[in-house]
Amino acid sequence: MSIVPNFPYDESVTRFINQFYPTATIRDWNNWIWQLKNSIHTTQQLTDILGKTEGELISSLPENHLPFQITPYFASLLSRLPGRHPLYRTVIPTKEELIVSPGEVADPLNETGDSPTRLIVHRYPDRVLFLVTGFCSAYCRYCTRSHMVGKQHKSHASTREWDMGIEYIAQNKQIRDVLISGGDPLTLPDFRLEYLLSKLRAIPHVEIIRIGTKVPVVLPMRVTNSLTRMLKKYHPLMMSVHFAHPDELSVETQEACNRLADAGIPLGSQTVLLKGINDEVETFKKLNQGLLKVRVRPYYIYQCDPIPGSLHFRTPVSKGLEIIQGLRGYTSGYAVPHFVIDAPGGGGKIPLLPNYLQSIENGEVILKNYEGNTYTYPDIA
Ligand SMILES: *Cc1c(COP(=O)(O)O)cnc(C)c1O
Repeated sequence: MSIVPNFPYDESVTRFINQFYPTATIRDWNNWIWQLKNSIHTTQQLTDILGKTEGELISSLPENHLPFQITPYFASLLSRLPGRHPLYRTVIPTKEELIVSPGEVADPLNETGDSPTRLIVHRYPDRVLFLVTGFCSAYCRYCTRSHMVGKQHKSHASTREWDMGIEYIAQNKQIRDVLISGGDPLTLPDFRLEYLLSKLRAIPHVEIIRIGTKVPVVLPMRVTNSLTRMLKKYHPLMMSVHFAHPDELSVETQEACNRLADAGIPLGSQTVLLKGINDEVETFKKLNQGLLKVRVRPYYIYQCDPIPGSLHFRTPVSKGLEIIQGLRGYTSGYAVPHFVIDAPGGGGKIPLLPNYLQSIENGEVILKNYEGNTYTYPDIA
């Protein structure tokens, strides 16, 4: 079976390929392996393609720093957008990320502290996070795991390492939900991903399996028909897709989401709130409504984790509340995700809501609706 599917592409892509990858064909372009092999790692390659992007672009990153990498596809998307588009800053390193501010730490959620065995984070009673790879096809500059992903371009964990995680899950009967993440699990070849899914599916107490990924956004051609055919054998399987901005919803990304949805995979989105990038009600409204059109249910908005060099990305917590307030009531409830802070130190995700509940007293619940009007509900004891 061919790994190069027919894949729709934006018409500007052929021009982009001719200009920057003159020996490549559209068949190469639509091959995700070709995309990974031809990934962009240097600011020189980047400026060749995008022209001068931003003044503070850094040319060489310190040792052991989160690497710079984007796919040719994502570079072509950026090139379609106006210069200095906010999406540039999500993946392109700037000098600001070298400045460490108070309160910033390498592993803010203390995932290491909640790790009973390598690759597993077991924080909640009934579910675990399984970090199956350190590799991503693009490295988000605000990544909560920036301290561990992409190190020396180290690729996927070995099957032996996975087996220890699988063994832990098999031994702990309270685990009914396994969230496969990393790194990006969809950068694994089909056969390795299938190894994982089949081993997990064989554990009787594992009810649902989830995959966390940004692949539909940065490497959409990875979502081949052979991938979706394989994935749908392991239902109930869900997916959380990381989106940052409505302009990521290209024809290619929409196709990837539709293919996954057609495979019966319930899709959710997760978005990190980022200063100057997506911190406006209108941006989230457009993103979330666009996501629903490709059957992705907005799931979480995260307050940005305080990783080293994240100050320029972080918004005040009130901003997240303002966004929820601007969505709730003004658009479909399905377009309103949960705004959460993943508590520093390992407290887990804590939801925050604007003050719709004013008080509960003397059998009266005083409520405020989305327009700010006050209502009373007759409570019972
Ligand atoms: C986010 C997360 C989960 C999943 O949380 P849900 O709220 O169920 O989506 C599980 N384990 C860890 C460690 C997490 O960070």
